[in-house]
Amino acid sequence: MLFKKPWVILVWLLAISLIILDAVILVGISNSNKEVDRFDQAHSLVNPSVALPAATLVAQSYDYCTLKQDAGLATDLQAGTPVPMQPVALGPTPTAAPTEMAQPTETSRPEANEPVLVPTLVPTLAPTATQPVYNELESWKPEVVDAGALKKSNFHAVVVGVGYPESENETKLLAIISGLENNFTGVNIDFAFVRNPVNLNLDHTEQAVNFSSNSDIDKILAKIRKVHPVDGIVLALDTPEFLGTSDTRQWAMLTGTDPNAVLIGSHEIGHLLGLGDGYESYYPNGYLPNSELFYSGSMPKILSDSLPKLKTLPPLYEVGTCNGNNVYTFYERSNNIMSDYNPQGPNPWGPSVFTPLQILEMNDFISITKEGN
Ligand SMILES: [Zn+2]
Repeated sequence: MLFKKPWVILVWLLAISLIILDAVILVGISNSNKEVDRFDQAHSLVNPSVALPAATLVAQSYDYCTLKQDAGLATDLQAGTPVPMQPVALGPTPTAAPTEMAQPTETSRPEANEPVLVPTLVPTLAPTATQPVYNELESWKPEVVDAGALKKSNFHAVVVGVGYPESENETKLLAIISGLENNFTGVNIDFAFVRNPVNLNLDHTEQAVNFSSNSDIDKILAKIRKVHPVDGIVLALDTPEFLGTSDTRQWAMLTGTDPNAVLIGSHEIGHLLGLGDGYESYYPNGYLPNSELFYSGSMPKILSDSLPKLKTLPPLYEVGTCNGNNVYTFYERSNNIMSDYNPQGPNPWGPSVFTPLQILEMNDFISITKEGN
């Protein structure tokens, strides 16, 4: 059903390759104990609070907890295997073919069976007469602009442009925020942005991206917290690389210049609001069950707590196994942004890229993590 047309194959390949490592760093993030406790509380595993409906067995199911030999670099990294990382090229793409610029290294190219996403032109941060001025992190003084919708009980997301020219930053970020606000309709989140862009050193392997220096996120948060009550940082990168990652606690990164930036951003911010991944074919130990893939007797508390709030339970699908346990998901996987890179509406619940259940879970997560603030 999925592979009737070539573009469908491309979209499916993107689905598989896009955000493979976006939940790469589930541990080792410097958070206060209070925040960690609330995160853990939302994700503690419980029995379902309701009797689950009969499940439909899907045609394409996975052995989710067995790592395949040819899983790819991003998956290897997620599984804990060290893999080579490449610096992320930031800045505007040159308009003419460069003659003396560095070419991409072999290891940064996609595998033969992946869509080609690396443009032939290679941007550079080397200073030239026309190169814009970038703010280095140490001297960056973020000027936060909010749309006036700041509400205390909301999750406060702040979008930061990375590598954008000063002259383009605001326009680009406002366009992304407009799309995000639409996709997060009904979710207790507000978006602000930083008017002045920053330059950062980032590394990636395939679509998985991270700070070159782990302390950079702490510096960014500290600078923004001086002027805005930020809960999560969304970094929009001006890069030709196709990137999307979240640490699920403090930050999300996305290729801000990609036509699908809003979809990538919605998925990654979904991770910041407690949602797991439903699209991968492999998960390392500790990643299952999550909000999207769960067992009949074990699921995250935010999922269990949200189920009774629905008028009727959504359809249940059996989608594979993990260590001999059957794995289930609610709704068809192609219907939502956490399980499909580019969900195709209209869905039974309307145009949202999130399911009604996911919206309940995100709001539950926000109320838990904001408790007492
Ligand atoms: Zn993801």
